[in-house]
Amino acid sequence: MSSDDVLTVREVSKTFGRVRAVDRLSFSVARGTITGLLGRNGAGKTTTLRMINGIFLPDDGTIELFGTTDAAAVRDRIGYLPEERGLYRKMKVIDQLLFLAEIKGRRPADVKPRVEVWLKRFDLWDKRAGKLEELSKGNQQKVQLIGALLHDPEVVTLDEPMSGLDPVNVVLVRSILKELKAEGRTILLSTHMMGEAEKLVDDIVLIHEGHAVLAGDLEQVKGSFGSNTVQLAFEGDGAFLAALPGVASARVDTNVAELRLAPDSDAQAVLAAVVGRLRISHFEIAAPSLEEIFIDRVGAGVVANRPAEVVT
Ligand code: ATP
Repeated sequence: MSSDDVLTVREVSKTFGRVRAVDRLSFSVARGTITGLLGRNGAGKTTTLRMINGIFLPDDGTIELFGTTDAAAVRDRIGYLPEERGLYRKMKVIDQLLFLAEIKGRRPADVKPRVEVWLKRFDLWDKRAGKLEELSKGNQQKVQLIGALLHDPEVVTLDEPMSGLDPVNVVLVRSILKELKAEGRTILLSTHMMGEAEKLVDDIVLIHEGHAVLAGDLEQVKGSFGSNTVQLAFEGDGAFLAALPGVASARVDTNVAELRLAPDSDAQAVLAAVVGRLRISHFEIAAPSLEEIFIDRVGAGVVANRPAEVVT
């Protein structure tokens, strides 16, 4: 944790009945970065974001935002895209947005120009007078995202921001998040989409059963896993790849595969074993993808509650 940290979660726990949703979770988020809060279904991501936004209080531990643990004092400086899209279905789009900004202490007259800019940017200006319930799921998602940004927050927390968006809108949201970062804002987002996280985030916090198991700068995390992964593109039937000598695990798709090599195995020997059987168009020795790291650390059979590995 450093003086650049805008958010620090320390030993935070939250229990619902018999479910320990968050379990002594600690991590920090540096100002001006995009951090990915990653984990399987039920890992505790939403609960964590809710506590950061002051919706739930932690049972134990502290959350420090902008140097204070008083969530109410800083609530207008943080934006939140919730997982459950809490919009009033019967309300007009524009009224809903003005209402969301008002909750965060902004006068409707002051935010109206920004509402117009955002609605146009998201291709929703023509729908401003329609009711929320008349919008498609993806368009409702965009309205909710605008609602998280309208009050000009310094820290933006987003629960699955790409959920329900088509590829064009995914690209749009990705570029908006990068712009927000370029403006010096701090973004914490939860996602299951490892490919998306890989394109966006500077840092990751991977949680499992409410506890951080891996955290740090994404490139350093990947580097710490070593260059023991072979990425292949090929024509032919790659079903045999997982069983090759020297391959510890493999993810094989129709024409691409990612092979994690066993310690001390030789990538060239793997290549030699493959060339006679497949037509290879790409062979690269690389750090593992985030998806592979995710499966390695929190896939089936992983034991939780070991100390978090913090890569620095
Ligand atoms: P997903 O990726 O599926 O959205 P998540 O990582 O966001 O999952 P949470 O929604 O934080 O996980 O849930 C963590 C655990 O806490 C789960 O076992 C969930 O069932 C439980 N939980 C969350 N909120 C409540 C609640 N209000 N009441 C009871 N249990 C809850």
